[in-house]
Amino acid sequence: MDGAMTALPLVFDAPRRGRPPRHLADLTREEARAAVAELGQPAFRADQLARHFYRGVTDPAQMTDLPAAVREDLAAALLPGLLTPVRTLSADGGRTRKTLWRLHDGALVESVLMRYPDRATVCISSQAGCGMACPFCATGQNGLTRNLSAAEITGQAVAAAAAMASGAVTGGPGRLSNVVFMGMGEPLANYARVRRTLDALVTPAPHGLGLSQRSVTVSTVGVVPAIRRLTEEGLAVTLAVSLHAPDDELRDTLVPVNTRWKVAEVVAAADAYAERTGRRYSVEYALIRDVNDQPDRADALGRLLAGRRAHVNLIPLNPTPGSRWDASPLPAQREFVTRLRAHGVPTTVRDTRGQDIDGACGQLAAADRVEGVPAVALPQPSLEPPVEMGAEADQ
Ligand code: SAH
Repeated sequence: MDGAMTALPLVFDAPRRGRPPRHLADLTREEARAAVAELGQPAFRADQLARHFYRGVTDPAQMTDLPAAVREDLAAALLPGLLTPVRTLSADGGRTRKTLWRLHDGALVESVLMRYPDRATVCISSQAGCGMACPFCATGQNGLTRNLSAAEITGQAVAAAAAMASGAVTGGPGRLSNVVFMGMGEPLANYARVRRTLDALVTPAPHGLGLSQRSVTVSTVGVVPAIRRLTEEGLAVTLAVSLHAPDDELRDTLVPVNTRWKVAEVVAAADAYAERTGRRYSVEYALIRDVNDQPDRADALGRLLAGRRAHVNLIPLNPTPGSRWDASPLPAQREFVTRLRAHGVPTTVRDTRGQDIDGACGQLAAADRVEGVPAVALPQPSLEPPVEMGAEADQ
């Protein structure tokens, strides 16, 4: 192991900070209708507000189906601006866009929109920072600032959907098709708000984005009780488990939450989820040179997952600042894939979009880059042309 990695404590309870203002997207449809009625308006105005919100309309002047006299008040009461774009960087010829958002209390989070020929995926944050302390992840090394509200999480997806619809993303107007909870934070450590967000993502218009459940992926370090809770919810979103090692000894160091819930428990909980949904889960595995990429580890992972409803997503490590760990070299990656497949385990290697704008997996660490950020600068000139982003795309 690399002694340069500092061991951070696991933090499940987010620091209590001033809550963001209440927003329509924090509420169920019934609650939103009640809130509108409390403001002395007919309940159907909640549907009108929702339609504007999920379409990305933020300016009350454009909400022309609402009486002019109440637009401002209703929008101020139920659609407060929660996410202020600080800066957007693009790569891959404008097909990858990373946005840095400032929240009401100055906390910063990032989301990354990636457009592919057949789909458009946004990678969103569920917490400002993260308390899970994985030593190879930039976010994990900066600790947990706070949980995001449902509206703060949902708003990132809504902004991506609006960017796609408007034609702001290279390739012309299109539709956001996928959402992955693979930005900053551990979604299952912010369960209630993530749960509310999942509803918003899959509920049809006007009260949601109307995405299909399977195209929404919740990625977790393996908070086993929360995976079980998710299993009981009756949802069918895709589950991804960040395994990164097949054995407890190594996983204890790479994914410190493993000291609470071991590999066998995590895999059993994921199996139960897959059993209920009838669909495969993803196993994420960052390939770290000489740390977890040995042929015998590939075999151990293959034995562990053979016969399960699991698909392995290998992610060549995106090195983070200050780390001496590096991605596995290509021959080691290929060998790993070959061995997993030999055990009958479906395996792909994730593409590494957005690397040159620090938008790739595990590189989101907004707190590091606050200084020198202009107050408002959107959009920034593209940083293209990108480097070749190679490999078999996933998702
Ligand atoms: N907390 C969630 C979401 C984290 S980000 C989770 O752990 O699943 C999504 C994926 O990126 C996780 O599998 C995470 O382990 C992985 N990741 C983090 N840092 C990385 C890095 N530097 N290189 C490659 N993958 C990384």
